[in-house]
Amino acid sequence: MKKGKLFVISGPSGAGKGTICKKVLEADRSIRFSVSMTTRSPREGEVNAVDYHFTDKDSFRRLIETDGLLEHNMYLGNYYGTPKEQVFSWLEEGHNVILEIDYHGAIQVRSSCPECILIFIMPPSVDELRERLRGRGSESQEDIDKRLGEALNDIAHADMYDYRIVNDDVDAAVARVLEIINREEE
Ligand code: 5GP
Repeated sequence: MKKGKLFVISGPSGAGKGTICKKVLEADRSIRFSVSMTTRSPREGEVNAVDYHFTDKDSFRRLIETDGLLEHNMYLGNYYGTPKEQVFSWLEEGHNVILEIDYHGAIQVRSSCPECILIFIMPPSVDELRERLRGRGSESQEDIDKRLGEALNDIAHADMYDYRIVNDDVDAAVARVLEIINREEE
């Protein structure tokens, strides 16, 4: 059976990656989404095992030590990582898999799975990004400032991606991601 392909979607916090991924998965039910593990606290409305597998730092470190993660990173004092086993079994079953992770993770995935496809979601502008982060209302001003700092760092690494998409229109961005997935499948 044909193996699935691994797609990595990154971009600064607030660029709209989450919304785009959700719509892509609704449009193509054969695609699988890797639910990351994190030690950060759930935001209001976030559901364990749907948005993230929420865990504590000791359990996360044990997973690192036992090689249970495909990649991981520390972001603003919390661990984030991709559980390995589920991703590989989906790929073996022939499913395309999406990881929504930051560029530190993307570098690690590219090194262990060089055939993966890297997609970067750009915000239309830094001002727009600041407004989106504020509008979310879930983070403190200090956290928003830190996220903006990280965002500029993320954008500085956009060149390493195979594709870059400016999210100035969500539906157009979703269509572009689906087009990339279809093209890479051929
Ligand atoms: P948030 O706290 O906004 O959910 O995520 C913060 C950052 O961590 C975002 O840039 C997000 O893409 C990234 N992230 C989420 N899951 C993972 C993961 O499993 N691995 C890595 N390396 N980054 C992740």
